[in-house]
Amino acid sequence: MHLIFLGPPGVGKGTQAKRICDRFDIIHLSTGEILRTEIAVQSNIGNQAKLFIDKGKLVPDNVLLDIIDNRLKNNDVQKGYLLDGFPRTIPQAEGLEKIMKELSHSLKATVSLSANEDELVQRLINRSLESGRSDDAQDIIRQRQKVFWEQTAPLLDFYRSKNLLKEVNGVGEISKITERILEVLI
Ligand code: AMP
Repeated sequence: MHLIFLGPPGVGKGTQAKRICDRFDIIHLSTGEILRTEIAVQSNIGNQAKLFIDKGKLVPDNVLLDIIDNRLKNNDVQKGYLLDGFPRTIPQAEGLEKIMKELSHSLKATVSLSANEDELVQRLINRSLESGRSDDAQDIIRQRQKVFWEQTAPLLDFYRSKNLLKEVNGVGEISKITERILEVLI
């Protein structure tokens, strides 16, 4: 199974992604986590990416497409995967289509999780108290929301027009939201 999780920062994509991956025994691929690992080991990609991440901006499309192109060729993803935080722009979505076509992977669904912005900002402020993430500061949080609406939200129509979009309310108890996601996937 091949899935995409789409939604604004703080909506709980990571939490739900882990639960859905356990359920279907597929690999969780979070580009945010991949980039944070690159930053931690101070690789070239990591050093470049940090400049964007710390400002709440998107890392350039070509960097992300290279990462995904390599990662999807790996043996461990052949049983299926859930992309969390990728694609985030139309060029990334178009690039992903091409990569998946070459690998004969077919996308089952794009799950869009939603919540209102005040709820999201509050969740991120709470998360910042324990995450230690450099992009969880308040002004950067607002910037990341803005980037989502400007650059990532157009993907909703992109996948809707292909009949692949499943919209799920991301407010409520964690287990209840997981149930809602499972319902749209079955
Ligand atoms: P996340 O953990 O998904 O919230 O990602 C944290 C940050 O990593 C984002 O604010 C971006 O700066 C960067 N990032 C993660 N995924 C992507 C992507 N697909 N395209 C561009 N930048 C990304």
